Amino acid sequence: MKIIKEISAMQSISEYYRRIGKKIGFVPTMGFLHEGHLSLIIKAKDECDIVFTSIFVNPTQFLPGEDFKDYPRDFLRDYHLCKSSGCDYVFYPDADTMFPENYFTYVNVNVLSDKLEGMFRPGHFKGVTTIVLKLLNITKPHNIYLGQKDAQQAAVLKKMILDLNIDVNLRICDTVREENGLAMSSRNMYLSKDEKDKASVFNFVLNEAKKMILEDKIEDMNVVKQSVKNIIETKTPESSLQYIAITDNNLLEDIKDIKNYNGEVLISLAAYMGKTRLIDNILFKK
Ligand code: AMP
Repeated sequence: MKIIKEISAMQSISEYYRRIGKKIGFVPTMGFLHEGHLSLIIKAKDECDIVFTSIFVNPTQFLPGEDFKDYPRDFLRDYHLCKSSGCDYVFYPDADTMFPENYFTYVNVNVLSDKLEGMFRPGHFKGVTTIVLKLLNITKPHNIYLGQKDAQQAAVLKKMILDLNIDVNLRICDTVREENGLAMSSRNMYLSKDEKDKASVFNFVLNEAKKMILEDKIEDMNVVKQSVKNIIETKTPESSLQYIAITDNNLLEDIKDIKNYNGEVLISLAAYMGKTRLIDNILFKK
């Protein structure tokens, strides 16, 4: 496995593999890899000839006051994990390489970027779409692999690919969870053992909400959301729910008339466990 730091080198490597007819899979990450990331690399290796993984803690997707400086980084560890998962090239650029002085260009998926996470992290998705578009231009993959864990990110990037006619297949892979149901995340390292145990409540309530809709046939989504809130408050007073939303999975619009809705239902939430902000979601067919 090779480490590539320069944009032109990465582009040449991609062009070479394309020329000789190899299928390229690309997994963008911010590093501090866990089994969720590795599942994307393994899937990419399964479906493609060559796998590129990028490791870049993207400053433009963090808001002032967020954890950009503290975000966990351990390149050596990531290197070994990438290698053992079947990655062929790690693109590991410096911040100045990606965002040199006088960098001016951003891409934004309007409307979708302002919903859910966007309400609490304004500007976050503009950073995400910009970096992913840059990475797609650098790695030129046939397939890009994203996790369902970041459902809105996947929806926003799907829309960007569609709206800008980007020639890449988007593959969205299932969320990998800890044994207790907690969605794996690099940010879980901020949690104490006790908090990690208690954070299983988020996956639990998402499954409860799904049951309320599919089995109990509750039609008022506010009742479902209130029940989720109550369960979280009762079970784990250490946590606080920031939002819960029940939407479609494309435009992320609130589902008002669930009785007559026949698409995919996305229930997403963000919550604090102690000082750590976590997100999770569940996606199912109505
Ligand atoms: P990040 O390093 O957090 O930017 O994540 C890089 C990619 O890994 C994104 O597409 C995430 O959605 C995906 N990812 C993160 N956590 C998980 C998980 N627990 N299961 C599956 N994919 C994940």
